[in-house]
Amino acid sequence: MSHVFPRHMKTHPPKAVAGDGCYLIDAAGKRYFDGSGGAAVSCLGHSDAGVRKAVKDQIDKLAFAHTGFFTSDPAEELADMLAARAPGGLGRVYFVSGGSEAVEAALKLARQYYLEIGQPDRRHIIARKQSYHGNTLGALAAGGNEWRREPFAPLLIETTLVPACYAYRGQAEGESLEEYGRRTADELEAAILKLGPETVMCFIAETVGGATAGAITPAPGYFARIREICDKYGVLLILDEVMCGMGRTGSLFACEQEGISPDIVTIAKGLGAGYQPIGAMLCSNEIYGAIEHGTGFFQHGHTYLGHAAAAACGVAVLKAFEERDLIANVRDKGAKLRVALESEVGQHPHVGDIRGRGLFLGVEFVVDRATKAPFDPSLGIAGKLKKAAFEAGLICYPMSGTIDGRRGDHVLLAPPFIMDDTHVDEIVTKLSTAMAQVLP
Ligand code: PMP
Repeated sequence: MSHVFPRHMKTHPPKAVAGDGCYLIDAAGKRYFDGSGGAAVSCLGHSDAGVRKAVKDQIDKLAFAHTGFFTSDPAEELADMLAARAPGGLGRVYFVSGGSEAVEAALKLARQYYLEIGQPDRRHIIARKQSYHGNTLGALAAGGNEWRREPFAPLLIETTLVPACYAYRGQAEGESLEEYGRRTADELEAAILKLGPETVMCFIAETVGGATAGAITPAPGYFARIREICDKYGVLLILDEVMCGMGRTGSLFACEQEGISPDIVTIAKGLGAGYQPIGAMLCSNEIYGAIEHGTGFFQHGHTYLGHAAAAACGVAVLKAFEERDLIANVRDKGAKLRVALESEVGQHPHVGDIRGRGLFLGVEFVVDRATKAPFDPSLGIAGKLKKAAFEAGLICYPMSGTIDGRRGDHVLLAPPFIMDDTHVDEIVTKLSTAMAQVLP
């Protein structure tokens, strides 16, 4: 018996022993195509020589020096690279070890910013239904995934949830996507007015929704309107790109495609590509300046901030993207995978929606395409699809987004950026095999 405390205690997963490009290999020698990069993490696959070398070299030189005492070359280099590539004004980079930590830091930074500029009444967080921002208590409170929140609800700080921009479920009959986007964004304004604008601290949203309902892209103009509303009421806009950032949707930051710049953006997952745990929060020069010229101290921190080996990993990942033009491959393979999914499974009577951007694609399963009625949650369709796909040698990520209070069934595909055309067929064939076994 192993003494590991697994999340799923009644299942006995195989032991992963090696990685080879886009594949993971278990102890029995079986190969699995990593069609979801774990949870949108392994963007460079599992055997990237450059990243492995960069991490080893850094550990040989200096693995860790606590940021209470030192800065380091790799942390500075990575911060410079990110700031130079980030949308306008996001000039300061705060390193953490993962996505939830990045979100916690963002929420606390927002609060401290308002204290520093003399607006202590600003404390309300507005977030979205059908969203996920992490599992620590602050990040969980800001997320709208009812299933994840429910057991811990008495421990969560109060947040206000507005509808997510989820066109497949929300767009009204006869309404254009643009009109739907505007109508949904305007719900933020209504929430701000209801709470009292002078009490609202921030609005947090995933630029492209990930871990709740699978690759939900915003309607055109939605985020431009959100930006306008935040500006109008002095509310900070935090975009959570922990899953959709770092090239996943075809641009380094997903918000580049929305033509807006947030006040704070969070990233993780793809930044370390699975070779090291690292995340970051980037904030505007204005926020940084307010604190620098105020108390001069961000009242938040973790032991592994700016870990040198993790930062060296991030530098090597960004260099790999650029030297090998991998984000262009995300756009190319993403378009091909989407076409293949639409032609091979798009007409399936239980496929309600295929959506996403770049190599961040979601498939939503329904009982009936016309009514969009979800399956009975007790059938556990998404979980069964994950299992059947895994047996067929494909890793895909099942989602438990809530639809009208019930758990829906979605599968997220987020394969490595290094995939080639043959992998498009492999993903679609294996997914079809799993669907044939599981769907009624
Ligand atoms: N934000 C988003 C958008 C995420 O998708 C996730 C993880 N799925 C997190 C935050 C939390 O990240 P972590 O699991 O690294 O704490």
